[in-house]
Amino acid sequence: MSRWAFPAFAAVMLLPALPVPDFWITQSNYIGLYALVALGLVLLTGVGGFTSFGQAAFVGVGAYAAAFLAVKMGVSPWITLLVGQVLAVGIALVLGAITLRMSGHYLPLATICWGLVLYYTMGNMDWLGKYDGLLGVPTLHFFGQDLGTGRGLHVVIWVFALAAALLLTHLLDSRPGRAIRSLKSGATMAEAMGISTLRYKITIFVIAAMLAAASGWLFAHFQRTVNPTPFSLAKGIEYLFMAVLGGVGSVWGAFLGSAVVRLTEDQLQVLLPKLIGTSGNFETIVFGIVLVVVLKYAPDGLWSFVGRWRKSSTTRVRDWAGAEPLPKRAKPAAGERLLDVDQVRKQFGGLVAVNDVGFTLDAGEIVALIGPNGAGKSTTFNLITGVLPLSGGAVRWRGQDISGRPSRAIARLGVSRTFQHVKMIPEMTVLENVALGGYGRTSSGVLRAMLRLDRAEEKRLFAEAEAQLARIGMADRLHELAGNLALGPQRLMEIARALATDPALLLLDEPAAGLRHHEKQALAGVLRQLKAEGMSLLLVEHDMDFVMGLADRVVVMEFGTKLMEGTPAEVQASPAVRAAYLGTEH
Ligand code: ADP
Ligand code: MG
Repeated sequence: MSRWAFPAFAAVMLLPALPVPDFWITQSNYIGLYALVALGLVLLTGVGGFTSFGQAAFVGVGAYAAAFLAVKMGVSPWITLLVGQVLAVGIALVLGAITLRMSGHYLPLATICWGLVLYYTMGNMDWLGKYDGLLGVPTLHFFGQDLGTGRGLHVVIWVFALAAALLLTHLLDSRPGRAIRSLKSGATMAEAMGISTLRYKITIFVIAAMLAAASGWLFAHFQRTVNPTPFSLAKGIEYLFMAVLGGVGSVWGAFLGSAVVRLTEDQLQVLLPKLIGTSGNFETIVFGIVLVVVLKYAPDGLWSFVGRWRKSSTTRVRDWAGAEPLPKRAKPAAGERLLDVDQVRKQFGGLVAVNDVGFTLDAGEIVALIGPNGAGKSTTFNLITGVLPLSGGAVRWRGQDISGRPSRAIARLGVSRTFQHVKMIPEMTVLENVALGGYGRTSSGVLRAMLRLDRAEEKRLFAEAEAQLARIGMADRLHELAGNLALGPQRLMEIARALATDPALLLLDEPAAGLRHHEKQALAGVLRQLKAEGMSLLLVEHDMDFVMGLADRVVVMEFGTKLMEGTPAEVQASPAVRAAYLGTEH
């Protein structure tokens, strides 16, 4: 991207200096204004997975703030920009707090609702000029120079649009960016890595609103009049269309989508009345049809075709050699009581999945939890790690009651885990997936990431991720996309990610399932080495031989109940276990 960024920047900046028709400049201004909004939707919808039909309303917030304050109160435009941004942030925080907890189709429906509410508010307020709007917005001035509504403003619009694109590109390739990219895959894994997913949902919602409001501010000075029409729901759908058309996951696709929409919109407004003899907003219908076609034949948008021409490489320059290691937590002394699972219980409706199960684990131990399918092992893991709330009992970590804490808080105490069904971000590289594990050991936020002040910390994080991958024998697969790995390496990658959290206790849910024989042996070697280094492990495993050679103690569950606990030899010798578990397996 960086190779193209400068020539692209230079081209748009020089456009107004060239003897091109004014019409081109006007079109280019529109494209820049649209792209600013579409960029927010790339972040919110494409990357984050939250569909918003209501972005046009935020454009209106920025535009009305600019117009009202300038026309009625003579406020300077730089202040109206600030006020518009503050308003957009405030409204986004309120709407986000209410709607971002919704799931499925409720969120898009909610965006339609508040899109309409803001639209009708703008149209019905006397002091906002009702549907006539506000006229006579002054042009922008810069160092005494009138920027007008053409070539001068073009520079400002495109500085905004390209700066936004650059900041977003930086953001997506960073600690908070990886957290944002994890939102689409569901909250469970991200939260288990110590990430507050709600916080990042609100963050991208606010950023998208700010970009839309900035576009609105520019729009007000471009049109020099503001009325509710450009901020309607129809326009909100059109913005979403631009983002989807360009390629909803790619920053540069937002520009492509905006350009295609603006240019065809213009042609259609001339062409359609000629074709069907009447005028009306028929371009909306055409866009709707095109959208369906795009979603069917190019679900990744038009930018994916451009992306195919470029040499696509996910390889990250290995610039982290010699980076200072990330801080490590003080490890518990061998023998310290780490985990006390005290009669935990979980009911799903009438089903008692975990029935008052209790056991303990001391530092340096490997404890295995075994039992037939459906015995409640994974549910027990979820209770310990806070993924599921307890129906009864308590979990204590180093003497402290952690029952009811969110899983991200428990993760930050040094309890890390893998999942029976691998949870990862398929479109991120192996290295980036493992770097998610180091989230809680690093601190760069959105602003630092956007300004690239996070690079030193990124190097430390990637050095750690590489070291953990090397530890489990995957040093040669750093730059592969995680989704392309076979199941075995995916499981190993999850272990490396869990290790990157610098845990005091590692919970592995069936780590050997789906592994080939030699992979299992390699895994057993890694686990033994971890134990030798003082790591404590709680292990769910189906493969008896795997467990018996490894565990210090074994807890056997059946139908949600603890059947027995003992050394591997004791468990193997028990007739009850044989009947309940081994008997069914062998
Ligand atoms: P194991 O890991 O030992 O195979 P699980 O802990 O996954 O077993 O499941 C224990 C029981 O709880 C099973 O009967 C399963 O169907 C049920 N169960 C697990 N999760 C849920 C859930 N979220 N809702 C309802 N029932 C569940
Ligand atoms: Mg399970």
